[in-house]
Amino acid sequence: MVAEDKLSWVGNFIREYPRLRLRPHSSCLVAFSGILDFTAVAPGQPEITDFYSLDIIVPHDFPKSCPEVFEKEERIPRDSKYHKNLDGSLCLGSPLRLFIELSKAPRLTAYVKKCLIPYLYAMSLNLKYGRPFIFGELEHGFPGVLHDYTDIFGVKTAAQVELALKLLTLRPRLANKYLCPCGCGLKLGACSFRRRLNWLRELGIADRFGIEKVIKSLKAKGHARTL
Ligand SMILES: [Zn+2]
Repeated sequence: MVAEDKLSWVGNFIREYPRLRLRPHSSCLVAFSGILDFTAVAPGQPEITDFYSLDIIVPHDFPKSCPEVFEKEERIPRDSKYHKNLDGSLCLGSPLRLFIELSKAPRLTAYVKKCLIPYLYAMSLNLKYGRPFIFGELEHGFPGVLHDYTDIFGVKTAAQVELALKLLTLRPRLANKYLCPCGCGLKLGACSFRRRLNWLRELGIADRFGIEKVIKSLKAKGHARTL
């Protein structure tokens, strides 16, 4: 059954991206190698049809972990400014952001459409037209992670992120007694923001992303800064 499921999604993926080939790879679930073609557009930007030569490595515990994508022909410079790591892997977003996208649609084709193609489109827009990266939220390191959290929670400040993260580690009934992190001035239990927190709690991100550690680094950086 599992093998059959795997065959069908691999087949569907290759039908959608026919210049990618299955590649033997012992240390992952499945690997693809070859050309990924895409056409994409963003508001106020030109439509671009382009392709990149990639390796896509799907880990054994997919969709619990994200696929890794490597660009092979060095069109994209190995530079953190381009969100490309020194080993050639692409930095498609913070681990939390990618995990959440994958939780919403745990399929490789959805991951490619939601996370990989927007990245490649932003690169082509920059490399071909010299436009600044349109996905400005693709930041590296701490500012990127914090920005991601403000996005995910729908809040504005580091202090709000910290409170939301803290409430995420509490049981819902206890969390509901705290001031809501969204800034509404109500208790969490009286605001619809609690649904967003409950959803994130169910995904288990508190355990998975070491939220205690994030809270600590938020404290270390101070709260004065508003994003
Ligand atoms: Zn609220």
